[in-house]
Amino acid sequence: MDAIRFNDVTVQYRTRRGGAHTALKNFDLAVRDQEFISLVGPSGCGKSTVLRAAARLIAPTSGSIALEGERTLRGFERVAIVFQRPNLLPWLNVLDNILYPVRVLRRVSQEDRARASALLKMVGLTDASQRAPEELSGGMQQRVAICRALVLNPKILLMDEPFSALDALTREEIQFELRRIHEATRMTTLFVTHSVSEAVLLSDRIAIMSSAVGKAPILCQIELNER
Ligand code: ADP
Ligand code: ADP
Repeated sequence: MDAIRFNDVTVQYRTRRGGAHTALKNFDLAVRDQEFISLVGPSGCGKSTVLRAAARLIAPTSGSIALEGERTLRGFERVAIVFQRPNLLPWLNVLDNILYPVRVLRRVSQEDRARASALLKMVGLTDASQRAPEELSGGMQQRVAICRALVLNPKILLMDEPFSALDALTREEIQFELRRIHEATRMTTLFVTHSVSEAVLLSDRIAIMSSAVGKAPILCQIELNER
């Protein structure tokens, strides 16, 4: 079964003047279980819209999106999303930021704490667990955001240009870490980027989107690592 299946998805945004702007038209894509797939394309072609729709942050105007075969999402903790900006809560320390999604759902258990600590260790931030987000560099903050996304052990990870605000060296380090995390967890990952080189570095498969709304949204798919 596919992890995510977009079936003829069209998304229109309402404009202020009461009109409609078509951001995505007749989009089809099957994301396989456990793969790391990147969606590449020029700015404005609809990549973020694809991700927001997969995360159920927006509803498609027409068409359907099935997550693990289901059209309605039960248990939103199965899907996590990481944005370009870390969006950490400034009044919580690093550990409490990571545990925040747990706290929203239920009481934080010892196991949750252990998992959060293990995630921090995985990204080399054990020593930062009690620090405030504002004391951390951009790269460190984004690592915390990734830990927060993973704390509920999601089946599917959605990432929207997560590294484009980072300097080149930090980006390289964190890309390497993400690849390692994927190899360890085999979590299905849908990664959006405008950088072809980043997509090649990280992915098992790349889907290239066309900028021309109304044409076939996916121009081609490139298989890098067959599993
Ligand atoms: P990408 O992520 O590839 O840059 P987006 O999915 O952000 O593309 O945007 C696709 C199209 O939809 C663009 O033309 C963009 O201007 C438009 N768009 C995105 N978000 C909104 C919104 N909230 N309201 C209106 N139009 C939007
Ligand atoms: P990078 O270039 O890798 O993103 P920075 O140069 O931003 O890193 O930060 C390097 C170090 O300085 C990090 O260890 C970070 O914790 C620390 N640091 C950055 N900003 C602050 C700050 N506002 N207050 C305290 N420490 C900071």
